[in-house]
Amino acid sequence: MPEIKVTPLGAGQDVGRSCILVTIGGKNIMLDCGMHMGYNDDRRFPDFSYITDGPLTDYLDCIIISHFHLDHCGALPYMTEMVGYNGPIYMTQPTKALCPVLLEDMRKVAVERKGETNFFTSVMIKDCMKKVVTVTLHETLQVDSDLEIKAYYAGHVLGAAMFHIRVGSQSLVYTGDYNMTPDRHLGAAWIDKCRPDLLISESTYATTIRDSKRCRERDFLKKVHDAVDRGGKVLIPVFALGRVQELCILLDTYWDRMNLKVPIYFTMGLAETANKYYRMFITWTNQKIRRTFVHRNMFDFKHIKPFDKSYMDNPGPMVVFATPGMLHAGLSLAIFKKWASNANNMVIMPGYCVQGTVGHKILNGAKKIDFENRTSVEVNLTVEYMSFSAHADAKGIMQLIRHCEPKNVMLVHGENAKMEFLKQKIMQEFNINCYKPGNGETSIIPVSIDLDVEVSLPLLKHTMALPTSSSSSSSSSSSSSSSSSSSRGNNTEENRTKKQKVLHGVLIMKNNNLRIVGVNEAWGDLGVTAHNLRFTERIEVDETGPVPALTSALHTLLSQKLGSSQVQAVNEFQLSVADSVFINIQDDEPGKTILLSWTHQDEGLGSKLLDIIKSNYKKS
Ligand SMILES: [Zn+2]
Repeated sequence: MPEIKVTPLGAGQDVGRSCILVTIGGKNIMLDCGMHMGYNDDRRFPDFSYITDGPLTDYLDCIIISHFHLDHCGALPYMTEMVGYNGPIYMTQPTKALCPVLLEDMRKVAVERKGETNFFTSVMIKDCMKKVVTVTLHETLQVDSDLEIKAYYAGHVLGAAMFHIRVGSQSLVYTGDYNMTPDRHLGAAWIDKCRPDLLISESTYATTIRDSKRCRERDFLKKVHDAVDRGGKVLIPVFALGRVQELCILLDTYWDRMNLKVPIYFTMGLAETANKYYRMFITWTNQKIRRTFVHRNMFDFKHIKPFDKSYMDNPGPMVVFATPGMLHAGLSLAIFKKWASNANNMVIMPGYCVQGTVGHKILNGAKKIDFENRTSVEVNLTVEYMSFSAHADAKGIMQLIRHCEPKNVMLVHGENAKMEFLKQKIMQEFNINCYKPGNGETSIIPVSIDLDVEVSLPLLKHTMALPTSSSSSSSSSSSSSSSSSSSRGNNTEENRTKKQKVLHGVLIMKNNNLRIVGVNEAWGDLGVTAHNLRFTERIEVDETGPVPALTSALHTLLSQKLGSSQVQAVNEFQLSVADSVFINIQDDEPGKTILLSWTHQDEGLGSKLLDIIKSNYKKS
């Protein structure tokens, strides 16, 4: 039984460091190559030595990267340039443009700010990106003669894609991160009804069914408004290419409507990065942005102004959007350190934070954060979490499964307890297997092989023209035929078409193709001549007279039994019956031998003749 083997090297019962090793139809593929943002040691990168003792390039057929978030691509230069991999890497055009930007950003934080030594260089990032092959949405790309991949729009962030991977009749879908509902700047994820053997889905929000978008937005605006009303400062840590566009549009409109004067800032780097890439990949955004973007800058807001570092110490209320989103480094962390001890202030985390980051710690109620340089801050400000991050929620995941109809589901990129809940739900609702392997744990998913067999048209026509025998129609298993049996005689067109027919043919395997054809077609197709199969029976008898006398006696006997038109004398020692059964008489002193020969098509007639002769000419 063929099987698909899946081993997560990261994101198995965990969020962060997505890296999933898949073997399908003899091909080895790595899905994403992420890093764990919560660790600074070896646990940061996947353990590539697990894959093979030999060179990675010999073992892996390709790497596929779903989107630019570092927990999906952060380990890529380490793997290709430091561990060593020279094979192809597939990603979309926007991901290829944005990956190196985020990688370089992270490298700077790690090497220049934290002073790490064993880290990839800028040159390595560039060399790594040279190995990237870009894929266009909905275009089937042949990795080699057997392996093909196809990308679909995933929403989530600019350039994010889901991948359909196929080897022969086996296939799987890897979602990466995706969002099933459209937002202000991106569309919703979409995929063909491709019925894969396996769907590997993220499950970040496996148990969350998010309240309506409008509720969430009202809640967010109220919280910001209340905080600035009491004179507090509000920090919103964001990623330049994530939710920030959504939130800015929302806040700007609200400030206008409420006629608020409190300053809102965004950090310059953030706006520049966002503008540049949204402009470059405008076709990946949603319709509305495409229409308005021609006229305005993504950060051309009435109330939101560029931020200067010196503003951090300004007295009075303000709202600041700053990167990065999980408070693990950079300006957002610097501002947090300044503002954290004041109970009047507020930080709003608009997305998921991976374990180990400051964002994750404060969301879990930490009241004091220790930093590596032995400093620490008291957390007195209000910590709010608003799920604006564009992942599918439980409803979205179920919706995707319903739409793409996989034969098995695997959950990754989620927390174990939440995945377990969703797993039970999936198995109940869809009656299919659901897996959720941990890191380093291999799941083996058996797949059945579907073979496409072509049937020749002449054979089909011939079969359809044959009268349906009563026994074959009664063997019909369709429920409608049994219900119609009460109205026997009412032989409607519908009833006739439901009758089953048995098709007799020859199965031909040629040029990797399977066809069922008629016998004569098969001879022509294969260039062989027909063989005739004949059976011959020897009957020894005690007759002592001359051979012609026995021939004549047999002629008379058989004519009586079968009708004289059936039996012909060929010569003095040979008869033929129905032109196909032959009877030869040989003189075998002292008796005679009758040789009876018939084709397998005339099995009935042959046996009958054998019975007649044997019962009339017994050897004593
Ligand atoms: Zn993501």
